[in-house]
Formats: sequence, structure tokens, C-alpha cells
Amino acid sequence: MKKSSYDTALERELHDSLSHINLRKCHQCGHCTGVCPSARYGGIRPREIMERASKGTMDLRLEQDIWKCLMCNSCSERCQVGADPAHVITLLRNAAAIRGNRPPHFEEEMKLFVKTGMSFPRTGLTKKLRSEFSLPELEVDEKVMEELKILLSLSRLGRF
Ligand code: SF4
Ligand code: SF4
Repeated sequence: MKKSSYDTALERELHDSLSHINLRKCHQCGHCTGVCPSARYGGIRPREIMERASKGTMDLRLEQDIWKCLMCNSCSERCQVGADPAHVITLLRNAAAIRGNRPPHFEEEMKLFVKTGMSFPRTGLTKKLRSEFSLPELEVDEKVMEELKILLSLSRLGRF
């Protein structure tokens, strides 16, 4: 890794968020990667993320692998020392987003969620599938939106 891409603030941020405790627990056994569905198809490898984050050899302005996590939590369930890699990855995503590293499709989903409370668009296909399963049409729920607005106003997500 080039010296210029070393993220000096990352260690401090992870320290502040207590994830350094998670990182220190990790003994690099690789069990998390063994159960990761994303890793199976060439995506994120949580063991490697834990290694790079603990060494500070990760440039969050450019990091792409963290966005390949499916947030299934299997890695954390499998980890026998409680290092909780899924939690570390979430914190790394937050730190990356603050640095402007946000994949466009995540931003689109986020905007849609803020607007409708749903993370996917209502398309002809969703309509058709719901009808096949005898489910009612998806509508924006105003009561849910009121509650969502309160939650968003209290979180970073509401600033986008
Ligand atoms: S996070 Fe846990 S399962 Fe993954 S490599 Fe570290 S110790 Fe092993
Ligand atoms: S939470 Fe992410 S990193 Fe962990 S097993 Fe699931 S996809 Fe892999």
C-alpha cells in the first residue's frame, strides 16, 4: 500500500467506537470467511478486513470490499472469540461514507428509503409478484413515515 493512502484517522475512529477491542480479539482463524456467502462468490473476506483494519492498511476513501457485505451476520455468529466482524464492517462503512465513499446504488436506495420507507422501488415486477402471492399492493404508510422522520432526524442518515 502506498504511504500516501494510509488513513491516519482510521485507527483513532475505530478506537473511539470501541471496535479496536473487536480487532484485538481477532486471531485470524478465518472461520468468518469460511461461512461468508459473499466470500463464496468472490466478494468480501471478513478475516482479511479484520486484518487490514487492525493494521490500518485500509484507505476508506477507496475501499470497495466493505460494500460487498450482505449484512447477514453469519461471520459474527461463527466467530468464537466475539470479535464481531459484521459490527466492525458496519463501523467501517460509516467511516467510509463520511469520507465520501458511498456506492451510487446505496445512495439511491437510501434516498428512496428516506422518501418512501422502502429500500426498493415499486415496479411492475414487484406488483406482479405480490399479486401472484395474493399480497396487497405496496403503499407508502403515512404513519410509518412519521415515525421514520423522527428516527431520521436523530440519525446521520437523515442528513443525506
Ligand atoms: S473475526 Fe473471528 S472468526 Fe474471523 S478471523 Fe477473526 S477470530 Fe476468526
Ligand atoms: S455479515 Fe457480511 S462479511 Fe459477515 S458473513 Fe455476512 S456477508 Fe460476510
